[in-house]
Amino acid sequence: MTAPRTTPTSAPRRGTPLRLQRPVYDVCIVGSGAGGGMAAYMLSKAGANVVLLEAGPEWYSTRDATMLRWNYDSPRRGASTPDRPFGEFDGCIGGWDIEGEPYTRAEGTKFDWWRARMLGGRTNHWGRISLRFGPDDFRGKSRDGLGEDWPIGYDDLASYYDRIDRLIGIFGSREGLPNHPDGIFQPPPRPRCYELLVKDACDQLGVTCISSRLSILTKPLEGRTSCHYCGQCNRGCAVNANFSSPGVLIAPALKTGHLKLVTNAMAREVTTDASGLATGVSYIDKNTGADEHVRARVVVLAASACESARLLLNSRSSRFPDGLANSSGVVGKYLTDTTGTDVAGFIPKMMDHVPHNEDGVGGMHVYMPWWVDNRKLDFPRGYHIEVWGGLGMPSYGFMGGIQRYPTGGGYGKSLKEDYRRYYGATIGFSGRGEMIPNEDSYCDIDPNTVDKWGIPVLRFHWKWSEHEHLQVKHMQETFRALIAEMGGEVFDPMPGPEDGYGIAPGGRIIHELGTTRMGRDPGSSVVNEYCQAHEVKNLFITDGGPFVSQADKNPTWTILALSMRASEYIADQGGR
Ligand SMILES: Cc1cc2nc3c(=O)[nH]c(=O)nc-3n(C[C@H](O)[C@H](O)[C@H](O)COP(=O)(O)OP(=O)(O)OC[C@H]3O[C@@H](n4cnc5c(N)ncnc54)[C@H](O)[C@@H]3O)c2cc1C
Ligand code: SF4
Repeated sequence: MTAPRTTPTSAPRRGTPLRLQRPVYDVCIVGSGAGGGMAAYMLSKAGANVVLLEAGPEWYSTRDATMLRWNYDSPRRGASTPDRPFGEFDGCIGGWDIEGEPYTRAEGTKFDWWRARMLGGRTNHWGRISLRFGPDDFRGKSRDGLGEDWPIGYDDLASYYDRIDRLIGIFGSREGLPNHPDGIFQPPPRPRCYELLVKDACDQLGVTCISSRLSILTKPLEGRTSCHYCGQCNRGCAVNANFSSPGVLIAPALKTGHLKLVTNAMAREVTTDASGLATGVSYIDKNTGADEHVRARVVVLAASACESARLLLNSRSSRFPDGLANSSGVVGKYLTDTTGTDVAGFIPKMMDHVPHNEDGVGGMHVYMPWWVDNRKLDFPRGYHIEVWGGLGMPSYGFMGGIQRYPTGGGYGKSLKEDYRRYYGATIGFSGRGEMIPNEDSYCDIDPNTVDKWGIPVLRFHWKWSEHEHLQVKHMQETFRALIAEMGGEVFDPMPGPEDGYGIAPGGRIIHELGTTRMGRDPGSSVVNEYCQAHEVKNLFITDGGPFVSQADKNPTWTILALSMRASEYIADQGGR
């Protein structure tokens, strides 16, 4: 960028309000998770002066993670707390409910919204399953007539995926599967004992089972050390061997001297001028409660798909009465989440095992990418399977439900013996599949509710269709068949159609996407293929909002790729 640095555009005159004397940054980014962290990294490396507004406090895993704490060091034994629902040592501050920051649901809607409130957002405890979308994932409508195609294809993102693989680091195995593109992989860890059993069962049933693809270093990279297999990735990695936005993107961005970080800054709205261009972002300083404003030539929203939609819908003016960049009425629409269901079973051949070392990364070592031809099925698209089990470190709630094992529970000595016998004899599967965007799943502004700063909140509307229910039925049947193949017993009966075959409520898989989808037509989309708002040329969105569809993949590697591509476009335009 060649624009002036953090100085006023002209010398302040006597009597000029303080606000106008503030610096004009090249770029203001809102949110520091996957999308915002990548934008901060790319733009500050390109020489732009960047200000990053983040609603939560600073948090660096190398400084703040509790990776090596024993659960018994705490009187709570690792149990969850209100701002750490996944356990008191978990790396994410946030949750389904945040005090003073409500959201609402339309009548009949089941939707839960997970929000992080910290530097790096959800990348501090995500599963690091780092999958590229495949060629078919960008052209769903052309394949089966449902949803919409993306205005870009795999070839437009392939080189960005390559660069991200090299920059962040990912392990995996090269398989040559048509819609699961290989990356530039570091060597994968070997399967653990129970994962070998899963692999055998998959081979028997014709289910593809390969090495997982996680953004965890098995070899040193760019001054970062490799993993030492403590299995505690969800707590944040104190040696920076897995991917989190603060450790891998924001720290190097700060080193450029071009990035100013403003934490505890809750963005309220994007401000605009008379010509309809963005002029900056107003925010609440959560430390003081004061209203503040930062000026910038370009605004990048990356506050997560739903929060960025909220910011746009709350940025109303006479020029944009329905919210910024929303003449199409599409902001908030076509919200999707990944479909999901879980099945766990007791595997007798895993009990009374010989104690052995099951150390590994903090995630699965094998997984099953989508393997079936849809022409043989009664639902569109597909899902992948995640595997869990083994000898994780016991914490509060450890082996709850022991009465379901053959001896039926007990007390005292026999109970302790049962824990030892059955520890590690449970294997579970989680399906993660593609939802088709629909008109009934969206978020808008609740006209009657505001948060503790007076900012109007989101109201969710949600409906699964028969497509998703039938897909989840297939997951349930497959997982039960796999457990039976391993000689195991499933704990719970097969759920029926009245329960959507066990589908998790919307939002529960925490992969919310859409709400500001991309497209060529400004009448039916919010941003173009560079994540640039059709109506406001200096406004970009680099979180999951621009996704036109889900895939049978987790989304974050694609959020990073889209953000890298959009940031390069901004830097290129700024340079010119
Ligand atoms: C338990 C868990 C496991 C997951 N596992 C995987 C996985 O294995 N693979 C995968 O691909 N994905 C996974 N995900 C999803 C992944 O974390 C998200 O896709 C990704 O982090 C989204 O990036 P983002 O930048 O859009 O949002 P976030 O990472 O959520 O970052 C948004 C940031 O914006 C900030 N913010 C919000 N509102 C404001 C505001 N008004 N003003 C200022 N700042 C604001 C937040 O504090 C946050 O820091 C997982 C998520 C969870 C919770
Ligand atoms: S398993 Fe590896 S990457 Fe994960 S926290 Fe431990 S050392 Fe870090």
